[in-house]
Amino acid sequence: METLLTTEPEEAAAFIRRGEVVAFPTETVYGLGADALREDAVRRIFEAKERPADNPLIVHVADRAMLRQVAASVPPMAETLIAHFFPGPLTLILPRAPAVPAVVSGGLPTVGVRMPRHPVAQAFLAACGVPVAAPSANRSGRPSPTTWEAVYADLAGRIPCILRGDRTEVGLESTVVDCTGPVPVVLRAGAVSLERLRAVLPQTRLAGDTAEVLARSPGTRYRHYAPRARVRLIDAPEEAMPAEDAAYIGLVPPPEPRAFGLVRVCADADAYAHALFDFFRRCEAAGLGTIYCQRVAPEGIGLALMDRLHRASRA
Ligand code: AMP
Ligand code: MG
Repeated sequence: METLLTTEPEEAAAFIRRGEVVAFPTETVYGLGADALREDAVRRIFEAKERPADNPLIVHVADRAMLRQVAASVPPMAETLIAHFFPGPLTLILPRAPAVPAVVSGGLPTVGVRMPRHPVAQAFLAACGVPVAAPSANRSGRPSPTTWEAVYADLAGRIPCILRGDRTEVGLESTVVDCTGPVPVVLRAGAVSLERLRAVLPQTRLAGDTAEVLARSPGTRYRHYAPRARVRLIDAPEEAMPAEDAAYIGLVPPPEPRAFGLVRVCADADAYAHALFDFFRRCEAAGLGTIYCQRVAPEGIGLALMDRLHRASRA
């Protein structure tokens, strides 16, 4: 299959209307979209990514009218979060409307819904005219793509179109909040911090033990990133062993930066989050064996960053 590269949202949207898949930029990472109301189209996402069928997809909407098509109801806590954070990098878990095929949600009675704020994503969704189911546009188990080049590296020849945009602004995936219980529960830390959610809804809690997260969000069981390099988490930069086939990323420079194959020193946790997935891919391209990642405080974006670092180091 030939993969068309375009910068025209309308040209990309035509593929969605034909029931095909398209990769497109958002403020978090690139998504791989298909018409969320067509089961045959949604199945193509799972095929292209080789994604396990029980890992649910997030449905992207352009406006409230599309949200009403996919959610059977919108509980008051979800209304509050919508008022404060839509459009933006927040996904709400809501009761699934009958129009949404079960394959979108891995069979769950719920649906994840997000309204991206990225202007290209918005233009694309409006041109599609239908809600678009889209997980990250990487091969299953690979780092989420933050550039169109990363999408191309993973999916060229497997999908018909990539809508080209800039490097994504946030670099980590959306925060996922379950709004179907008595209080909001964060199933996946992400770009909208727990602190900001609690400023609006103080009763918001983090999904506690692994069993709870697995029961509510099957996708989180899967390896987020299966590195070819070994990911080692460290506190002090001195713990990184300088070597040509080793890389280092963190907030503080390592003692002998020139002795490493690749080094990335980030100004703050936001810059670290922005750089991480692309850094992983660069390390792989350079054939490096070990990636040392400095831990950060689990506050603000740091909570999501530590979540992704833990997943990568567990692989
Ligand atoms: P991705 O877009 O590749 O980051 O994957 C989407 C993630 O969103 C899944 O792995 C789940 O963790 C979460 N998700 C999407 N829909 C649901 C749902 N209906 N219930 C719980 N979690 C969901
Ligand atoms: Mg993903």
